[in-house]
Amino acid sequence: MEKKKIVITIDGPSGAGKTTASRMLARRLGYKYMDTGALYRGIALASKEKNSHPDDEGAMKSMLAGLTLNLVLKDNSLRLLLNERDVSDLIRTPEISMMASAVSALPLVREYLLEVQRTMGRDKGVVFEGRDMGTVVFPEAEVKFYLDASPENRAMRRYRELDSRGKISLEQVKTEMVKRDFDDSHRKLAPLKQAEGAVRIDSSNLNLEEVLDIMLYHIEAALC
Ligand code: C5P
Repeated sequence: MEKKKIVITIDGPSGAGKTTASRMLARRLGYKYMDTGALYRGIALASKEKNSHPDDEGAMKSMLAGLTLNLVLKDNSLRLLLNERDVSDLIRTPEISMMASAVSALPLVREYLLEVQRTMGRDKGVVFEGRDMGTVVFPEAEVKFYLDASPENRAMRRYRELDSRGKISLEQVKTEMVKRDFDDSHRKLAPLKQAEGAVRIDSSNLNLEEVLDIMLYHIEAALC
């Protein structure tokens, strides 16, 4: 008998290892994986390219009206399509990280993406990674995780990811990351926090396999 499909949410601050854990977990379960941060980054990039300032509600509204965002799997890597254009590499810069955090505080943007994300989860069998997946977008998700790690550990992880792009020091990465996490967890709408019923995992002293083992244990228990 085929196992029932569920929605799994993984929230947490930047650099806690959500992306790798979500991708691997989805692969093990034969699920889809959705990196919702990429959607916020896509909107940040679109607003930059269209010169729509986040404070200008009219400009943001018309920018969103002409926007399509899609997450597609290509050669085993998740790609973000912005109006059919692959912008996956353009959204991974420190500038877009900060801009994504700024646009993510706008009610207009959150409402727009709420619909997009819920549509993606309609058929279940999806691992959603983000900040408000378990609290706001899928409060009824069958299994929820909150993945955390120490600021030093998270800054190092982010730094290694950006290292090939050079130009920024570890200290700078940490400062920007701490500011972004502060903003994300103190905004009025859908702030980053542990969802009710979420399993908290601190990945500071765990390797990927250990994180996955804990997750799979809770998923198995929920499917029984
Ligand atoms: O996960 P990532 O670092 O790519 O997310 C970029 C930004 O998008 C976050 O700092 C956060 O402000 C925003 N975000 C959000 N809600 C989500 C996912 C990301 O507000 N579900």
